[in-house]
Amino acid sequence: MAKEYDVIIVGGGIIGSALLYTISRYVRPKSILLMEKYGDVAMLNSNSISNSQTLHWGDVETNYSIDKAKKTKAASERVLRFTSKLPSAERAADIQECQKMVLGVGDKEIDIIDKIFSPQFRGLFPGAKKIGREELAKIEPNVVNGRDPKEKLSAILSDTGHMVNFNALAHSLVNQAIATKGVKVDVLFNTNADMIEERESDNSVFANGEEYKARFVDVAAGTYSLFFAKRMGYAQDLSSLSVGGNFYYSNKVLNGKVYRVQIGGIPFAAVHGDPDITDPNITRFGPTVSIALRLERYEPGTRMDYLKTVKFDAATMSTISKIFLGDKDVRHILKNNMLYMLPGIGKSLFLKNEVQTIVPSLKGGDLHFAKGIGGIRPQIIDEKKKALMLGESKIPGRHNIIFNITPSPGATSCLSIALEDAIHIAKVLDIGFESEAYEKELGPIKYK
Ligand SMILES: Cc1cc2nc3c(=O)[nH]c(=O)nc-3n(C[C@H](O)[C@H](O)[C@H](O)COP(=O)(O)OP(=O)(O)OC[C@H]3O[C@@H](n4cnc5c(N)ncnc54)[C@H](O)[C@@H]3O)c2cc1C
Repeated sequence: MAKEYDVIIVGGGIIGSALLYTISRYVRPKSILLMEKYGDVAMLNSNSISNSQTLHWGDVETNYSIDKAKKTKAASERVLRFTSKLPSAERAADIQECQKMVLGVGDKEIDIIDKIFSPQFRGLFPGAKKIGREELAKIEPNVVNGRDPKEKLSAILSDTGHMVNFNALAHSLVNQAIATKGVKVDVLFNTNADMIEERESDNSVFANGEEYKARFVDVAAGTYSLFFAKRMGYAQDLSSLSVGGNFYYSNKVLNGKVYRVQIGGIPFAAVHGDPDITDPNITRFGPTVSIALRLERYEPGTRMDYLKTVKFDAATMSTISKIFLGDKDVRHILKNNMLYMLPGIGKSLFLKNEVQTIVPSLKGGDLHFAKGIGGIRPQIIDEKKKALMLGESKIPGRHNIIFNITPSPGATSCLSIALEDAIHIAKVLDIGFESEAYEKELGPIKYK
């Protein structure tokens, strides 16, 4: 006999966990199930070893439009509100304040910083300030030490930097969902959803030989979401590029997060240096960019499933080549990142081109490759628009199903993505969304 729920969430990463929390607390269906194929939440891309642990705020991301910055800031504010209510030890494990800036080196990058630091930007981020070499030397001395005195420097220093352990945050969200009174919340680990069957009034999810029925299914399976959507006949014009990222570690040389100016149009351009929330004694440099051709970074067996998320036709291939070969800067970034993968010389080039633009005095012996660190960002290519879709993608189903795909800053947007879905699910289930309680706890539903 099938087990029945009002809502099933497939995937227990940060997005599935935020969905579980938001739906159980503010939609309050009778029952909700989270199904996760691994033995715990957030073991893949939401794990702290997989990502850059940044609560994106929009003020140091030089490839964001003002509207994207506003949306990102609103998303982060929700995370801050949620974590502010946690007991202090739990909060410290989830999130910590951290100095954060974007550094411009040389005329071209300084010009980008000057343009970004517009009155509109200053209105949105009144605490952000532009600083020069002298102030940089005081707050991040290793960015200036050993640098050619003729090299021009400028930076935007944020007043709201945070590093997040999204794995710990996922635990907090799930624990609070389970503790919600009056809602049956089940969490099944080691439960791999094999198949989803969509019907007009309900859906069935088949996992570990069992059938689970639900009035609504939310697929938050990360890189697997598009795989499920395509298998069910959706999103035939979308393809996914699995963009992997590696990191290098050194002893602590930076006090906070130092981002570099990003090139517009691609979301994964600039390497940054930052501390690790789980180890204050190291500085991480990364991520590099590599095309992973699989759904899980360290599982080569997921290649065949990855291939099912790509449409191999002339239109998609011409879109990919237009994105990656049509722009000089993008070609340059890709060429460099391919060289960084070469044994031996790769590390020296990464040091010279990336790390030493942040910390000029760092030497090869100070840096080591972080093995097994770095996840995958599923970047979606829209064949119709002939473009890479920046940010998260949502594929609505015909009836009672949604698929969420979340490259960066997906983890930061977890509560915003969950809010949007929860409002929709409340309508479909016809039980109302508890807006007043939501706004009291997590702030305004609409961002200004
Ligand atoms: C190098 C790198 C740096 C990044 N830096 C940042 C950053 O600084 N800040 C930020 O906000 N974001 C960052 N991101 C993005 C962020 O990590 C992701 O957006 C986020 O983790 C995605 O969460 P998710 O829950 O969608 O996916 P995942 O964390 O991948 O979770 C999906 C879950 O679904 C489960 N699953 C899959 N298939 C099934 C199935 N069939 N049945 C059951 N369960 C299933 C998986 O096991 C997994 O637990 C970065 C990503 C990378 C790769």
